[in-house]
Amino acid sequence: MERSDIRGLTETELEELCRSLGKPAFRGRQIFDWVQNKAVGGWREMRNISAEDQKTFQERLFFQPLALKKEQRSQDGTRKYLFQLPDGEAVECVLMNYDRRKHRDRRTVCLSTQVGCPVGCVFCATGQEGFTRNLTVGEILGQALDICRLLRAEDPEFSLTNVVFMGMGEPFLNYDQVIKAIRILNHERGQKIGMRRITVSTSGIAPRILDLARDNDQVGLAVSLHAASDEERDALMPVNRRYPLEELMRACQEYTALTRRRITFEVALTAGQGSKETARRLALLLREQLGHVNLIPINPVAGSGLKRPLTEEVAEFASLLTQAGIPVSIREEKGTDIDAACGQLRQRREES
Ligand code: SF4
Repeated sequence: MERSDIRGLTETELEELCRSLGKPAFRGRQIFDWVQNKAVGGWREMRNISAEDQKTFQERLFFQPLALKKEQRSQDGTRKYLFQLPDGEAVECVLMNYDRRKHRDRRTVCLSTQVGCPVGCVFCATGQEGFTRNLTVGEILGQALDICRLLRAEDPEFSLTNVVFMGMGEPFLNYDQVIKAIRILNHERGQKIGMRRITVSTSGIAPRILDLARDNDQVGLAVSLHAASDEERDALMPVNRRYPLEELMRACQEYTALTRRRITFEVALTAGQGSKETARRLALLLREQLGHVNLIPINPVAGSGLKRPLTEEVAEFASLLTQAGIPVSIREEKGTDIDAACGQLRQRREES
């Protein structure tokens, strides 16, 4: 019989499994608590589950923490992890610690959802690697749980406060697994991450934006926009040929009508791109939208031919957008002294 990944099951699924094995349902709740709340690393740590019960469950469930292949620590507290999956593939995830005074003690984990990515954005190291496969629910959650486990060895009180699906892969191309992972992360006996503290970032898979609004109207949405015309966006993000700006903007408007939530429009800025004309076109594109622009000074990826803008250029562009009536923030940069851009660490591993 094929065994299920214990870290990819909901509390209800574990309760049902217990019943089917002639065990009390509360045993399923105990297992869920060990796995999803306490983030233990194996069966032996589940002290209230008897050795006999563990043996029975192991015939139906496997428990395999991700293997840590590399960890980088930034001076600003950001940590980047490269985890190896059971089939030998590798994914990255990042933990960002935010300043207590400015951000009320935020500990945000950025999760990957695919090995590689089929979207192929030209500025992205992951996109340049191509697509291998989707991650399972257990592998998506495993990143958050293993980071918790590793950090609780240093600080037993450690907990995550926010989750962003902005790592390797396009979350909406692995939709069902991502939605299930969100529900488990939010569960009151799991990591208890509030829905409003979870953000899904998409390259612009328009139909899935509406699915998210219908399936989970509390989760935050970030849209990687990066350009204000189809011509420019086609060149940067091939997904735009499938879902051009008009369709994407319509989906965003429907999303805010259904959820009343503001959207974050991510705009990566490269050197020389922050002109008055770009700001004007961006403002025109977003004038009907409920949301704000988050400007990202781009982290250069080898071979992209793109350059990082100067701080003054970013500030000037932000001011142009503000003058044009578009709320704007500049992304606080984390981990600039490590390979913090999506896909860079995995790329280095493959190069070596
Ligand atoms: S930026 Fe995101 S969607 Fe685009 S290729 Fe990279 S991982 Fe995929």
